[in-house]
Amino acid sequence: MFTRCPKLSSVAAVIVFCLMSNARAAPAKETGRYEWVTLGTAGGPVAQPGRNEPANLVVRGGEAHLVDAGDGAMTAVVEAGTDYRALRSVWISHIHFDHLGGLYAVLGLRLQTRAVGPLSIYGPPGMREIVNGLLAAMRPSARSGFGVPGEVAIDPAAGITVVELKDGDIIERDGLKVTIAANSHYSFAEGSAEEKYFRSYSFRFDLADRSIVYTGDTGPSDKVINLARGADLLVTEMVDLDGIKATMTRYAKHMSAKEIDVATQHLTSHHLTTADISAMAARAGVKAVVVTHIAGGNSKDAYASDRYAAEIGKTFRGPVHIAKDLERF
Ligand SMILES: [Zn+2]
Ligand SMILES: [Zn+2]
Repeated sequence: MFTRCPKLSSVAAVIVFCLMSNARAAPAKETGRYEWVTLGTAGGPVAQPGRNEPANLVVRGGEAHLVDAGDGAMTAVVEAGTDYRALRSVWISHIHFDHLGGLYAVLGLRLQTRAVGPLSIYGPPGMREIVNGLLAAMRPSARSGFGVPGEVAIDPAAGITVVELKDGDIIERDGLKVTIAANSHYSFAEGSAEEKYFRSYSFRFDLADRSIVYTGDTGPSDKVINLARGADLLVTEMVDLDGIKATMTRYAKHMSAKEIDVATQHLTSHHLTTADISAMAARAGVKAVVVTHIAGGNSKDAYASDRYAAEIGKTFRGPVHIAKDLERF
């Protein structure tokens, strides 16, 4: 397991000690049960009080895997009681900013604490360009370091591997078997360059004792239903269309008619309503549903959780839970 850095008076001594302790931080072989932790249950892009943007953790002991990395993800990892140095991999479902905003903080924390162990970043096409851009943006800070004479600079790219996923890929590592399915979060014109390149993915995590399917952002999709077939837990996105329409009306003076039209089209065909979730969960035969990425609800804790759960329960008969941040499943 990891060694905590003691409180030393000199920054240089801390750096040296952390460097030594991180050098010893080879992960122990983990055999415990993986838990799913919701780190951020808001649907972006607008920040919400009390909910971080989309992020989740698959964690057991000294191994952690981040699933989407919205703003606030790294703070939530610590709030969840997980040592940030336990992070082994990051899985980005798609490249909308609300699912990515916390990635710079993940990379920056590694650099600033010199905890540059192996970290794999999995994501759709475009992921390599994004990570390279973030690493380039870190280089001035990497060169300045703590400003201690003689300090050895760290390469921000040290330990980082980027894997761009394809539809149907299966990745096995650390006791996880992850199956990737392209979903219907985008609907670019058929045959266009954008349609060929951009992907939004759903992930199925087959663990030793159960299976968890994470929809990411998607519209209704037979491929996601097939991916989720018989899963123990379906972690799904959700939009409250009425709530979002009310918000858009409130802010209409800041949006053109064209912008409202694009937003409405996106919401109705690229996301899941409670009725969509109900049908999907029933058809896939999942055992339980956890709702995250809640977009359009009221601020603070006044989400219509009971109504959402009742609507999802119309067709799907299993347990439904409307998640908050930092819940464990
Ligand atoms: Zn989203
Ligand atoms: Zn999205």
